[in-house]
Amino acid sequence: MTDPFGRTIDYLRLSVTDRCNYRCQYCMPEEGVFKRSHSEILTVEECVEVARAAAACGVRKVRLTGGEPLVRRGVPDICRGISAIPEIEELCLTTNAGLLSDFAAPLRQAGVDRLNISLDTLRPDRFAAMTRRGTLDQTLAGIEAAQRAGFEHLKINAVLIGGFNDDEIGDFLALTMDRPWEVRFIELMPMGPCAGWEKGRFLSSQVVLDRYPALERVEDSGVARRYRLPGAKGTVGLISPISCDFCAQCSRIRVTADGKLKGCLHSREEIPLRGLHGAELEAAIRRGIAQKPERHHLSQGASATPRSMNQIGG
Ligand code: SAM
Ligand code: SF4
Repeated sequence: MTDPFGRTIDYLRLSVTDRCNYRCQYCMPEEGVFKRSHSEILTVEECVEVARAAAACGVRKVRLTGGEPLVRRGVPDICRGISAIPEIEELCLTTNAGLLSDFAAPLRQAGVDRLNISLDTLRPDRFAAMTRRGTLDQTLAGIEAAQRAGFEHLKINAVLIGGFNDDEIGDFLALTMDRPWEVRFIELMPMGPCAGWEKGRFLSSQVVLDRYPALERVEDSGVARRYRLPGAKGTVGLISPISCDFCAQCSRIRVTADGKLKGCLHSREEIPLRGLHGAELEAAIRRGIAQKPERHHLSQGASATPRSMNQIGG
């Protein structure tokens, strides 16, 4: 389906939980968030039903996210159900990989095509400090397991944070030399716990290009501007929601774990989907697409959404 601004909407990001085993400083407060009870969260069947209705409205790609999707019970069942929808061409999942050692093979068997792994630092001490719960070893073991399970072309997402990991850009780029991975640097967006952080922590992804002029531009993929180091097997992606927003090309809708459709990550508007079925559910999704905002206004301040990232699905 096309929205009023001429954008084809074919990508659903479905949050399957707002809970997480980590507490990344920019995403969740140390004490966690008010936990929605299990009865407020879409059931396995409802997740699949929403994806099926979205497919009837033109969605061809689904990404499961959260919170941490791997802490959600039944996530392989959700994957199996969605991958069996004939119109869905690609099923992806974003994870912090802390539990991926156990889940990589079941996810592959359940029809997941691609994994994005969030990894903001390659230093164990910084990893522990940023996530407040996780260890770098667990994540690296998860990445190994993903490769063994057949997820070869991994995307590794690092949020660029001034004074935290901007001295590791070269180490991340080095990962692409002999691996077919896409390492992506994402600009930190002011929302949730980091909304009030000092300006110096919000870096433009241009710093990557300024510091590594050898990066050569290659074909873009989705919202990422893509580059390659000479001779590298993998690529480098820059995702710049603030310095170079991609609203004009946005093809996404989002559904939160409690079943609210959002046309934009940063808007307040939400359409409740729970309790709707069949034609009514499809009609609500079409209404959400028709009301998708033209753009966000992050460059003029913090996000308008009262939700933090784990409550929407990054
Ligand atoms: N728990 C999973 C993970 O970390 O991959 C999936 C959910 S997480 C909310 C999805 C992505 O959003 C992660 O890559 C995370 O780094 C990113 N993220 C969270 N808060 C962000 C913010 N304020 N600005 C930019 N990216 C953010
Ligand atoms: Fe959890 Fe992902 Fe948020 Fe980190 S970024 S706290 S892993 S949801």
